[in-house]
Amino acid sequence: MWRGAVGRLLRGSVAGSPRAASGSAAAQLRRRLESELEDIRGAGTWKSERIIASRQGPHLHLEGGGAGILNFCANNYLGLSSHPEVIRASVEALEKFGAGLSSVRFICGTQSIHKDLEEKIARFHQREDAILYASCFDANAGIFEALLTPEDAVLSDELNHASIIDGIRLCKANKYRYKHMDMQDLEAKLQDAQKHRLRLVATDGAFSMDGDIAPLREICQLAQKYDALVFIDECHATGFLGPNGRGTDELLGVMDKVAIINSTLGKALGGAAGGYTTGPKPLIDLLRQRSRPYLFSNSLPPAVVGCASKALDLLMESNAIAQSMAAKTQRFRSKMTAAGFTISGKDHPICPVMLGDARLAAVMAEDMLNRG
Ligand code: PLP
Repeated sequence: MWRGAVGRLLRGSVAGSPRAASGSAAAQLRRRLESELEDIRGAGTWKSERIIASRQGPHLHLEGGGAGILNFCANNYLGLSSHPEVIRASVEALEKFGAGLSSVRFICGTQSIHKDLEEKIARFHQREDAILYASCFDANAGIFEALLTPEDAVLSDELNHASIIDGIRLCKANKYRYKHMDMQDLEAKLQDAQKHRLRLVATDGAFSMDGDIAPLREICQLAQKYDALVFIDECHATGFLGPNGRGTDELLGVMDKVAIINSTLGKALGGAAGGYTTGPKPLIDLLRQRSRPYLFSNSLPPAVVGCASKALDLLMESNAIAQSMAAKTQRFRSKMTAAGFTISGKDHPICPVMLGDARLAAVMAEDMLNRG
């Protein structure tokens, strides 16, 4: 119904009805949207979606013919999204617990598997408790508003993920944006923020655009000096950074200094969907009472819970899977550099091949696809 209404509106076909006057607004909107779309095409930054006709993995089949394409660009860091045990666990959860809950968690949507997964996530990260969300975008949208008031301050790296930026926009705390991984600037902002009741430093553990890793040791030292809490988004770290894949905090030896972690189940941990916050129990309890994306959105589907739960089991049984990532990253980075390419970031499996021109990058991607 909604689609039909919008379709009619955009086609301006409300003539003859009392709403005919809105026809010109619809036509104006259509012109504006078309011109905006043309600008994106003109800038060479149009995002087209290639359609995969197989499972996610290192070799893909694309709809319309492309077979055996080598895939380097998913966040399927550990290959768990098509791991047979992960798929089996998902099917078993689907059969036992059904397709979904048709409910939010606090009304009628909590099953034993949700509680088990939350307990497992907390154990994995060595924290007191954890809370599930439909995505990490939701976890980031829900935490700052629930935690911070106008009496508090949040200090955010300027290149933090869009979901952290949006989450911070929703809260009423005093906002400071420090230069990307610039500890001098963070220190100056922390000094200024001393006047507020509570200070929260928020950073991506690993930054998804350039594959660079936040200087968490230095951030934690500054946080200690200026009595601040540290929050990290570990979407590009959970499962594979650090000796046991616990993340950036493990890699840099500050697991006991980071207060709050948000991360995703939609990348290394099986790749289905879902996100979470893990940290002190009273914080998690408060999020269950106040966090809007948790309170007003459907529970995670059992099949999705089954995937993530099995992925965590595999990672907690042995660190072999987590360890496999580092050698592959090193190999790709060194061979590509030797072949004359510039790879930004360091030691992270996100290896951006910098061509310095968005249009050229799009052309090169198309050419590479044609060569498989
Ligand atoms: N945070 C970071 C750093 C991300 O890269 C992403 C996903 O791209 C998200 C949050 C959102 O995660 P999700 O896909 O679970 O919503």
